[in-house]
Amino acid sequence: MEVTRRIRIAGLVQGVGFRPFIYRLAHRHELRGWVLNRNDGVSVAVSGEEEAIGAFLRNIRREAPAASVIRSVRVEKVEYQFFGDFRIIRSEDQSVEITEVSPDIAVCEECLDDMHHQPRRVGYPLINCTHCGPRFSIIRELPYDRPLTTMAPFIMCNDCHKEYDDVGDRRFHAQPIACHLCGPQYRLVRGNTITEGIFDIVDTVAQMVGHGAILAIKGVGGYQLICDALQEDAVARLRLAKNREGKPFAVMFRSVRALQDYALMNRAEEELITSWRRPVVILRERKKLAPSVSNLFNTIGAMLPYMPFHYLLFERLKTPAIVFTSGNISDEPIVISDELAMERLAPLSAAVLSYNREIHNRIDDSVAMVVKRQERLVRRSRGYAPEPVGLKINAEGIIATGAELANCFCVGKGKQAILSQHIGDLKNAETWEFFAESLQRFKRLFRVDPSLVVHDMHPDYLSTRYAQSLGINTMAVQHHHAHIASCMTEHLLDEPVIGVALDGTGLGTDGRIWGGEFLLCRLDDFERKAHFEYIPLPGGDAAVKEPWKTGLSYLVRVFGPDCLRLGIPFTDQLNHEQAALIIQAISRRLNCPESSSAGRLFDAVSAILRICEVSRFHAEAPMRIESLCDRRVKEHYEFIPGPVISFDPAIRQIVNDIRNGIHPSVIAGRFHNTIIHCIFAVSRMIREETGIGNVVLSGGSFQNRIVLERSLDFLRRDGFRVFAHRRIPSNDGGIALGQLVIAAKRRSLGCV
Ligand code: ZN
Ligand code: ZN
Ligand code: FE
Repeated sequence: MEVTRRIRIAGLVQGVGFRPFIYRLAHRHELRGWVLNRNDGVSVAVSGEEEAIGAFLRNIRREAPAASVIRSVRVEKVEYQFFGDFRIIRSEDQSVEITEVSPDIAVCEECLDDMHHQPRRVGYPLINCTHCGPRFSIIRELPYDRPLTTMAPFIMCNDCHKEYDDVGDRRFHAQPIACHLCGPQYRLVRGNTITEGIFDIVDTVAQMVGHGAILAIKGVGGYQLICDALQEDAVARLRLAKNREGKPFAVMFRSVRALQDYALMNRAEEELITSWRRPVVILRERKKLAPSVSNLFNTIGAMLPYMPFHYLLFERLKTPAIVFTSGNISDEPIVISDELAMERLAPLSAAVLSYNREIHNRIDDSVAMVVKRQERLVRRSRGYAPEPVGLKINAEGIIATGAELANCFCVGKGKQAILSQHIGDLKNAETWEFFAESLQRFKRLFRVDPSLVVHDMHPDYLSTRYAQSLGINTMAVQHHHAHIASCMTEHLLDEPVIGVALDGTGLGTDGRIWGGEFLLCRLDDFERKAHFEYIPLPGGDAAVKEPWKTGLSYLVRVFGPDCLRLGIPFTDQLNHEQAALIIQAISRRLNCPESSSAGRLFDAVSAILRICEVSRFHAEAPMRIESLCDRRVKEHYEFIPGPVISFDPAIRQIVNDIRNGIHPSVIAGRFHNTIIHCIFAVSRMIREETGIGNVVLSGGSFQNRIVLERSLDFLRRDGFRVFAHRRIPSNDGGIALGQLVIAAKRRSLGCV
């Protein structure tokens, strides 16, 4: 006897080929009915034999498209209904279409197979299907249909059209569908020589890389610069060309196997690096690539091929690894236009490889790491954005402009927050344009008509000024409150928590620079319960680039102005005239704003240990001291807990240890443990006072693997429920989401 079932599938099931998948599965099991997209997922009705329906249900989970994430499958028995066939019903609700902007998806196994066997597509480097290929990077407008993407100029050939129309085909309604005959083509420009024909191109590129050349190649969301990661000379030249002194380069490896020679990888890390999102994953180094790749860091930012072209290239390359870095100079956004590539990147590289499909939305590679078996995003871009973040409250019509340095912005759409891709440092003029243009695009793409714009409390942030220029209602949100709220949002928390926000900098409600904060936090408001003691920052913001100045400031506060005679290498090697001037400025508080920043404390200790006295890139000093840290060390230094937390005893002990010849890696270990013990002790203090046992960890300092790992351990062991970031960066890339949710909460309480 035939029965009818209604099935609701929730999760990431839109824009990833889910409906055609259900269609094919239903046919295979000889079921009739329909499938359609709803704003909360996919809805299915099937009539058929009970057994067939059972098998169908099992296979939904088993065979779901790679890029889909099924959160739940709910089955409901309903009265028998007769259907003549199985159909895909197009949704009429506009809001459904809006969530259909899928992130870009790495090429799938089946397409790779087609690239070797399907005659029309042998070696076709832009092969894709409903399960894989470009998405967000090519979308101009919604709904997601070919004419509204940068595939519009390419007219499908008859064979592609047949596949596109055939509901049984893997390329049914694959908007970027293409083949050698009708799709976009690659070309290689090398001086005056232009190479066309993919096999000639791949051979030439492989040869050039083998000879140590730097090349610019067009990726999914922008150009990248590549060279052999085993040739020091090439990597060093690339550093010079990019004007990038210290920061490690990302590396693309041929395969998991090749990668395992150079880096240690556990199962969670392997799952992440092979996932369709294909982020750069920060792994522990096992064997050295060319020294300039990681520049004395003991980690490797590794990734695997994600475009068909990458696979073709590795088939010809001898090297197992290539440096794979954004095609830009210093802080500029990555180049996306072919013209600009010729203008800016051609002079740095031996050849420029492009293809004639336009990149509409710029999107950099994402960066992640695994801590405590969980994925932790450092930069949320390709493969992740613009996947919406589910909220408990309505955020319609709210936009948030984020922080200034690692900017992302956020727009509210119903009970969803759509966080932009990584934008970058707004002080760079071109990044600023990228920000303004992208925000306009998001408003149009997701049909957001903003009635409220949220910004940081800092009046001088360019993101704040932009918000104030829009002429709509504005709201200011404190930086560290936003950090904690962003993490609360990730875990759907809407109750009072202890928020531990440790980072480099953010303006506080008292006009001073915060960054070592313990907040009693709700979504709508917070109370500052404890913080690191303020210290004067000589020259204010400039101290960020010169950790030695902050180091000196800590020494002055602990040992007085005579600290130059401490007899440790750090003070001995300082230019004493220059140092005396700084000490004078500190004593008289001349241009020395006060800061409670955790990042600056890491800077100071890093400088005093002479690990990093001058910083060449953002957060270099904290990253170096973490990298040096001896993880076996169990002891910690003393600190004075309380509403104002003093690290004076720790600084004194560090100086003693240096005098006693203790190895810097041991001192670094003890220092890390000090921060962890501080987080633990102060959280306990607040729990005792308030009875609140939920701790939320956020801020850039939690990108420090040791701090995050051990804080989680210590707190959990003591019965705290602890929440840390996963898919939302703990750095300023998450600020906009926090701002948005705080505003939504305040609005729901009628405070706006
Ligand atoms: Zn595919
Ligand atoms: Zn074709
Ligand atoms: Fe921050």
